[in-house]
Amino acid sequence: MGKRRGRMQEIEVKIEKTEFPSVGISSYNDRKVYVKNTFPGQTIKGRVKKRREGYLELKLQEVLEKAPYEIEAKCPHFGVCGGCSSQNLTYDKQLELLGEEVKTLFEDASVTTGTYEGVTGSVDQFEYRNKMEFTFGDEFKGGELCLGMHMKNQSFGILTVDNCKIVDEDFRKVIKATVDFFKDKDLPYYRVMKREGFLRHLVVRKAKNTGELLVNLVTTTQNDFDVNLYAEVIKNLEFDGTLTSILHTENDSLSDAVIPEKVNLLFGRDYIVENLLGLKFKISPFSFFQTNTKGAESLYSIVRDYMGDSENKVVFDLYCGTGTIGQIVAPKAKKVVGIELIEEAVEAAKENAKFNGLSNCEFIAGDVAETIKHVKDKPDIIILDPPRSGVHPKALEYVIKFDAKEIVYVSCNPKTLVTDLKVLVENGYEIIKTRVKDMFPNTPHGETVVKLIKK
Ligand code: SAH
Repeated sequence: MGKRRGRMQEIEVKIEKTEFPSVGISSYNDRKVYVKNTFPGQTIKGRVKKRREGYLELKLQEVLEKAPYEIEAKCPHFGVCGGCSSQNLTYDKQLELLGEEVKTLFEDASVTTGTYEGVTGSVDQFEYRNKMEFTFGDEFKGGELCLGMHMKNQSFGILTVDNCKIVDEDFRKVIKATVDFFKDKDLPYYRVMKREGFLRHLVVRKAKNTGELLVNLVTTTQNDFDVNLYAEVIKNLEFDGTLTSILHTENDSLSDAVIPEKVNLLFGRDYIVENLLGLKFKISPFSFFQTNTKGAESLYSIVRDYMGDSENKVVFDLYCGTGTIGQIVAPKAKKVVGIELIEEAVEAAKENAKFNGLSNCEFIAGDVAETIKHVKDKPDIIILDPPRSGVHPKALEYVIKFDAKEIVYVSCNPKTLVTDLKVLVENGYEIIKTRVKDMFPNTPHGETVVKLIKK
């Protein structure tokens, strides 16, 4: 279907389904059509962005007819902010699409899910995030100072998201107080292209179960502004949680990412503590920690359940971050060996194990593909929780050589997951069951947990 308009620059199509990560799919003159930010049942107008032999890519111009299940988004920034993408869908619909998208990836790769156990939703659809990285900038050239998220479909504009609904009121208070404080200080925000400016990012972390709050201001060293004046403003705010840490990170690197070249403590201590499933975890300013605390508890419970009986077994926790999964299964296991690339996270993992009175955990810093070959223990169970790129082929080769009876694969990217699963199946593993776990409501992302056993 579809209607020809002008020189075929703009066409109208009805969206039939979505493909991971929630890209709307339709067809036009026998060609497959991809349109980001659209959902099944919508009729849309889009401009042709890419034209290839077998498919077209459209940029959404306008939703002409809404899908019957659409609702009003809760957040006033929705649609302009580049953060959330599906607040206009009921949460049930979001979960249904996520499950279908993951299942389709398995089918297209001819990989079985084993018993498909469906999608487990997040306890909270809103106010679930425990970490946000906000950027300083402006909405348009020469506009007033803003602090928040990149705007949708724009490379430069920044939107102040002091009404953001996926974080709680403490985060909103920090954003508002920070941007208000700096607005009249006449300090320039950092311009990536010009490599000039002072204010770069604001990282806020809050341990949801303990209430501990960390505020981390990231600037260049191009100005000698006394950031203690800023710390005083934050200290004087009233929070639901407890302000535990104010940091100033110096970052002169050219990359747009937050690179901690020097970290100065302005108030409190330089970490926060979170409780998960009865254990304590120290979260340092830059270590990885699942961004949805209640979601993490539920994800780790699924992993524990998928492992079956870990009594007296040797467990490898590969890509272990601060050692969360390993420590949750350690009390029953004989030994846990965790491997993680970021040294700071490994240090935290070791401290956390001590904190939790666990003496059977060993954490090793290094690239899994390199480090794993030196490990002498023989695992009964291997847990894989790699980054979006999946398990490196070299690492996967070693994983297979260990010949563990069980593997539990936790993945934040089902595309690389199915590729890796294919290799595991070709090498004698059988997929027993699969469950999708939503950790990031209102976005297209989710986690997938798969249990495999050696045939
Ligand atoms: N299991 C942890 C962390 C999972 S995220 C948790 O649930 O908290 C993936 C982790 O893999 C990150 O901590 C990242 O730093 C680490 N990582 C990325 N590439 C790696 C590599 N090549 N070798 C080891 N660890 C790696």
